[in-house]
Amino acid sequence: MSEFSNESVLAIENTLNEVDRALERLRVGNYRLCQVCAAPIADAELVLNPLLANCPAHPELS
Ligand SMILES: [Zn+2]
Repeated sequence: MSEFSNESVLAIENTLNEVDRALERLRVGNYRLCQVCAAPIADAELVLNPLLANCPAHPELS
């Protein structure tokens, strides 16, 4: 398998993991809350990125 293919698989797995986490947040009811500080995430941000897990103050952990 080429390096490009490995990177593609990793990117797909990362996206699937993000989807899993977003679905879990929807299930437990904290989908719209930052996972670090529990601040509400703006609807406009979630429209742009439905998998967003953190507020703008904590982008590195999303
Ligand atoms: Zn935050």
